[in-house]
Amino acid sequence: MLATVETGRTFMVKLPKGCDLIEESTRIATEQKITLGKVSAIGAVECAKVGFYHQDIREYEFFELEGNLEILSLMGNISLRDGVPMVHEHAVFGDKQGRAFGGHLAPGTRILVCETILEELTGTELNRTYDEPTGLPLWGG
Ligand code: ZN
Repeated sequence: MLATVETGRTFMVKLPKGCDLIEESTRIATEQKITLGKVSAIGAVECAKVGFYHQDIREYEFFELEGNLEILSLMGNISLRDGVPMVHEHAVFGDKQGRAFGGHLAPGTRILVCETILEELTGTELNRTYDEPTGLPLWGG
């Protein structure tokens, strides 16, 4: 699968303290009707929850990262799943000793501060559909 896209609007947003990180990104994408795009962010969270996909059993294992953490790097994309914008984000968090942890971002990550950039892309539509070889909802045809 290869799609050529054009750049659309760019949003620079300070996400509100206390909100859920992935849910807030999804809310903005939905509100602004961003159906295709990319996301990046830095900041800090009060706690985090991420997932690891076990390829052998085709299931996510989710785990919580305790304590206050820096968002060292967050990147993600926006596409459609079941006709609505789905934000898919991965993040690396750092603790007070500089150790890094990360994974597939899940609900349960509470924002202290988050400076995020959402970049809209246009020119095609990517819909997530079930992918048999991986067991994941991936960009289909
Ligand atoms: Zn993921």
